[in-house]
Amino acid sequence: MTENNGIMHILLAEDDSLLADGLARALRQSGYVVDWARDGIEADACLGERNPDLAILDLGLPGMGGSEVLRRLRERGQQIPALIITAREAVNERVRLLDLGADDYLVKPISIDELEARIRALIRRGTAVSESVVQLGRLRLDMSGKRAWIDSSSVDLTAKEWEVLEYLALRANKIVSKEQFMDSLCSMDHAITPNAVEKYISRLRIKLAPSGTTIRTVRGLGYYLEAPNESVKQPP
Ligand code: CA
Repeated sequence: MTENNGIMHILLAEDDSLLADGLARALRQSGYVVDWARDGIEADACLGERNPDLAILDLGLPGMGGSEVLRRLRERGQQIPALIITAREAVNERVRLLDLGADDYLVKPISIDELEARIRALIRRGTAVSESVVQLGRLRLDMSGKRAWIDSSSVDLTAKEWEVLEYLALRANKIVSKEQFMDSLCSMDHAITPNAVEKYISRLRIKLAPSGTTIRTVRGLGYYLEAPNESVKQPP
């Protein structure tokens, strides 16, 4: 879950504006922050940029269908819960959606009470799943998959660079000494020199630059990963 003072951000992708308006209004009244996407392309862009806490996707969306939006969401490694709303009732469709990475689905007409109950259940379940994902501003780390993204672009890292980044990310805003790095990295294979640590840090700095998350040097003490304060962009 993105750290945002407990406020849950939901992306609602629904082209039926009457339905979307009703759902968004009810969800906002329940304290959720809701972004509304009118088509699949907008939904796809919004998910990539804002990484909300939950996505509600209509299956029949103009531009890009809900199942394609979902497929791309999972392809980017975003593990946020996705709830599909659909007019179709075919069982094979439901199976296909679950295969694509949907967490739940509702068949129209939608009952607000049921939608909110499903959302609460997904959020409860999602907190356990998303512990393996660390979000630092625009930088997202999948700890189990050992992959990093800035917004929706994957960051190309070597195994050693990943280890350094992981070590720093798990101790964000805390100083890590060169010796700690050498201890943690050398146990993996051969010994690591102080120069090698510097080399990994400088490469990571270049690769992480677009994310706004920076690796600071504290002279004589070591390094720390500085996560930006502003973590989630507010909807316009
Ligand atoms: Ca629709």
